[in-house]
Amino acid sequence: MYQYQYASQKDIERITSERQIRISELALLHEAERQETDINAVYAQMRASYDVMKTNIMAGIESKEPSIGGLIGQNASKMYEYAVSQNPLGGGLLSRAIAYALAVTEENARMKRITACPTAGACGVVPGCLFAACEQRRFDESIVISGLFNASAIGIVIAENATISGAEGGCQAEVGAASAMAASALTEMMGGSVSACLNAAAIALKNVLGLVCDPVAGLVEVPCSKRNAMGAANAVAAADMALCGITSVIPLDEVVKAMKDVGRALPYELKETAKGGVAASTTAKEIRRKIAKLDISGN
Ligand code: SF4
Repeated sequence: MYQYQYASQKDIERITSERQIRISELALLHEAERQETDINAVYAQMRASYDVMKTNIMAGIESKEPSIGGLIGQNASKMYEYAVSQNPLGGGLLSRAIAYALAVTEENARMKRITACPTAGACGVVPGCLFAACEQRRFDESIVISGLFNASAIGIVIAENATISGAEGGCQAEVGAASAMAASALTEMMGGSVSACLNAAAIALKNVLGLVCDPVAGLVEVPCSKRNAMGAANAVAAADMALCGITSVIPLDEVVKAMKDVGRALPYELKETAKGGVAASTTAKEIRRKIAKLDISGN
C-alpha cells in the first residue's frame, strides 16, 4: 500500500493535511514511491519534461514553418510580438501565456517532440501559463517545476475519475483538463493553499463542461491551437479567482464526475470524429477536400 497514493480531491485534501505538504510535494512523493525510486530521479524526469516545453516555446515563437496540414503556424510569433511591443488588454502575463500556448501547439502541429500535458492536443495550456508566470513574476525554475507536479496531481484526479481523451469525453477532457491543471499550478506557484488550488481547478473545469472535440479535417490544428490559448486564459482567470478567496460551490470531485457524464452524453460527432462542431462547417469541408486532393497527388 502506497503512503501517498491519491485519486480524488478528497484524497489530496486528507493526505496534504495529515502530512502538512503541498499538492506538488504529494505528487512528487507518490511518483517516487510508485516508480520505486527516489525523489531526485523523479524531479529530474520533470525537469527534462520542462526542458522540452521551454524548447517548444522558444522554437514556436520563432518559427514561421507551417503545420503539417498548413492550417496554423504563424500565430504564436504574431501574438508574442504583440505581447512584447504593444499594450495588450489582458496584460503581460495573459498575453504571453496565450503566445506560449500557441507556440507549443504549433510545434506539435509541425510534428516536433512535445510533452503531452495531459495530451498532445492540449499540450500548450500548462507550459504556456507556467512559463509566462515564471517570466512575469521572476519565479525561480524550481517553482515552475513544482507547478508541474501540482498540475500532474490534478491531471491524475481527472484521468482516474473521468477521462483525458477527446475521443471519449470531448475537448473538455483535453483542453478542459489542461486548464484545470494550469489553474491549480498557478495558484500554488502564487502561494495559494491546497484548498485554493482545488477550487481553481474546479472553477476552470466547470467553465468548459460540454466543450466539444471537432478538429477540422481530423487534424490537431483548428480549433485546437487557439483553444489551448483560451484554455490558458481560463486558467489564469480561475487562479486569480481562487487566490482572492472565491470558492467553487461544486467541489472538484463532483465537477470531474459531471465532466464524465457530459462526455458520455455528447454524440459521437463531437468526439474527435471531425463530423460535428466547426469540423462540419462549410469552410472545414472545403479544407478537408483540399487536403484530401493534396494527399492523393502526393504533394
Ligand atoms: S478539439 Fe479535439 S483534437 Fe483538438 S485539442 Fe480539443 S480534444 Fe484535442
